[in-house]
Amino acid sequence: MILNDIEQLIERQRHYFSSQHTKSVSYRKQLLKALKKEIQKCEQDIYDALYKDFKKSRFEGYLTEIGLVLSELDLAISRIETWTKPQKVQASLLNFPSSDYIYKNPYGTVLIIAPWNYPFQLAIAPLIGAITAGNTAIIKPSELTPHTSALMAKIIAAVFTEEHVTVIEGGVETAQELLRHRWDYIFFTGSVKVGKIIAKSAAEFMTPITLELGGKTPCIIDETANIALAAKRIVWGKFLNAGQTCIAPDYILIKEKVKSDFIECAKKEIEKAYSSVPKNSKDYPRIINTRNFERLANMLQNETVLFGGDIDAQDLYISPTLIENPSADSPVMKEEIFGPLLPIISYSSFEELQGVINNYEHPLTLYVFSKSKSFTKQTIETFSFGGGVINDTLVHYGNKKLPFGGVGESGIGNCHGKYGFDAFTHEKSIVKKANWLDIPIRYAPYEGKLGMIKKVMKYLG
Ligand code: NAD
Repeated sequence: MILNDIEQLIERQRHYFSSQHTKSVSYRKQLLKALKKEIQKCEQDIYDALYKDFKKSRFEGYLTEIGLVLSELDLAISRIETWTKPQKVQASLLNFPSSDYIYKNPYGTVLIIAPWNYPFQLAIAPLIGAITAGNTAIIKPSELTPHTSALMAKIIAAVFTEEHVTVIEGGVETAQELLRHRWDYIFFTGSVKVGKIIAKSAAEFMTPITLELGGKTPCIIDETANIALAAKRIVWGKFLNAGQTCIAPDYILIKEKVKSDFIECAKKEIEKAYSSVPKNSKDYPRIINTRNFERLANMLQNETVLFGGDIDAQDLYISPTLIENPSADSPVMKEEIFGPLLPIISYSSFEELQGVINNYEHPLTLYVFSKSKSFTKQTIETFSFGGGVINDTLVHYGNKKLPFGGVGESGIGNCHGKYGFDAFTHEKSIVKKANWLDIPIRYAPYEGKLGMIKKVMKYLG
């Protein structure tokens, strides 16, 4: 899309928002239902696009993309009337007589910028929040998944008019052009580096933002953990999507005593899941592009590979790989891995754990495998992180009643279910004051009223 067109499109969306059409709750609900129908109609096309983009299997395509989006839609369709209704709150006696409300107002024209790793879900799930809340939206999907991005553009065009919701395909330049304009809200999912660029651009216009970012997610295993089950659940969470998941365990911190047990169990689980030649498994995706393949292949150099380590540049294939005790300044420990490499580092005390985890910014997620209540409690309370799981991986993402988001460098704001609706909603406080009584104390002249106002504020405020 040429730059002039972007400007005109944003203008048309603003105009459409001003027309108040998107404020009708029944209209929003009708569109949510239409979107659901269109996605169901295109289910096979979505699988095909995901496969063409990075050989994602149908199962993962449903579990991590289509299924999540459909359940977000079902929830929004069933709850939209409740979520959008003005919420009555207890009035302050200082304002007596009044009734007080929180009105749920859409921000206006919003921008959603999505990454490539769950290209369908991470573009459409925020959109569900945006339209349920009554906004117009432009989605900029990732240029690295061109088949899925083109299909999303088709799906959206079949359901919405361009002035309500549209997809603008394109790369970094397109995103940069979009960011030159004023938005009423920006919802970004992607890397910390680009998140900082988004935050700076938004600051120009004082635009509120959600940033869903990444980081190095620790996965702690103590000596009381059920090692076999931990290995099974970690192998699943790490190698799903070939490790290209923002909440995948980035590295393992394990008590030395149980390390070799864990390594043996993890090897078995990898073979069980993907056979002895994962390259031939139809369930194992590829690395998204050459740049990321090379980045990951470099991380492997000079490391002690315990298992896997097979690579094929032509096929963008890297097998599930276990790495032993990398040093803190090795490339694999310097940045978020975002691929199928799993460093396993042993620790002997809680202080040592703190030393490693506190080397990094607050992670998006933290996992702890342990049967000890005091150890899990200490871990959860000591570290600052977006969210986590005790004795499993990734599964907190599946509960829409839990807010999903980071803290510090791993992000700002939340999404999922009602939290996604809230992200795109301005809560407008309204006090409806009655006229039948007008208590005089607040009006000047104030002479002789200070003692009285102190008492009133102490007891009623
Ligand atoms: P990315 O930041 O490179 O790209 C994300 C989006 O930003 C893309 O649409 C891209 O076109 C756009 N973009 C890239 N450079 C830009 C620039 N200079 N200015 C403006 N826009 C720009 O991220 P990615 O590689 O697509 O995704 C991987 C990252 O996303 C990882 O760090 C991962 O942890 C994170 N992530 C986070 C979540 C979450 O929910 N917190 C989910 C998925 C991925």
